[in-house]
Amino acid sequence: MNYRHAYHAGNFADVLKHALLLALIEALKHKPAPFCVIDTHAGSGCYALDSVEADKTGEYKDGINRLLFPDLAGASHEPLPPLLRRWLDSILALPGNEHGVKLYPGSPLQAAQAMRDIDGAQLCELHPEEAARLRELFHRDPRVHVHERNGYEALKALLPPKEKRGLVLIDPPYEAQEAEYRLIEQTLKEALQRWPGGIYAIWYPIKRRSQVQPFLRWLTHCGAKRVLRAELLVHGGDSPLRLNGSGMAIINAPWQLDETLREPLRAMARLLAQGHPAEWKLDWLVDEAAPAPPART
Ligand code: SAM
Repeated sequence: MNYRHAYHAGNFADVLKHALLLALIEALKHKPAPFCVIDTHAGSGCYALDSVEADKTGEYKDGINRLLFPDLAGASHEPLPPLLRRWLDSILALPGNEHGVKLYPGSPLQAAQAMRDIDGAQLCELHPEEAARLRELFHRDPRVHVHERNGYEALKALLPPKEKRGLVLIDPPYEAQEAEYRLIEQTLKEALQRWPGGIYAIWYPIKRRSQVQPFLRWLTHCGAKRVLRAELLVHGGDSPLRLNGSGMAIINAPWQLDETLREPLRAMARLLAQGHPAEWKLDWLVDEAAPAPPART
């Protein structure tokens, strides 16, 4: 376990992942009943962008900073779509960020900020130091429970949540790509049996596109009735040597989530492109609710 999210916090992949996370939580808030957010790979919860780690890679400069300072990206100053505006404002509202983003909240803190008092969160993190930071961050928040354990294994015990509605975020480090995908598939297979109605959001890296294809194919026959895919490629090409883009597959995506995400994705592509125009995709891998095409005569 060498991966530390502190090196990558706030990069272009986090922008996509965390804006989508906000969209999902906002959709869950449309109903008054409480919900649960389960984060299987939570990280430490909050990252200082002036740390040695963030400074070493500088990845946030081509991520969240591009949304704050579009001219750095050579992009025009256009108003952000409402979802991205709310997302950015929630980060700027963190104590310490009054004069720019010094602290970048990870998925647990972003979820906790967006949740209501009645909602709950279960956070799993396997690395002892990251888990200790996470526990410290939330020790005064009775809605949040931190588990220092393997998120794939913990999920079996956590499903279905007592709230009976909510979201599972699966955001592993993909240190061994093939093995990670197979572990995700096995975990999702069991999770869908225990809790078929839950929303499952799986973040994935895109280096060489062919590496993702088997997982996307698996999703099309995993048994779910609705699977939405959102992808953003900020680099041209198909190099295995760098992160060219990332995606999120959303099982049981809320109604009309695709419409909510269309303009934000277009804006992210405009602001986060590196060198070449960015490519993005937003489509249903499975949509059994879609009307059947007209019969041929
Ligand atoms: N979700 C976080 C966010 O968006 O802010 C970032 C998570 S980071 C990509 C992946 C995290 O998973 C790392 O902190 C790593 O220590 C942790 N990890 C790796 N394997 C794990 C496992 N099997 N169960 C739980 N956590 C694990």
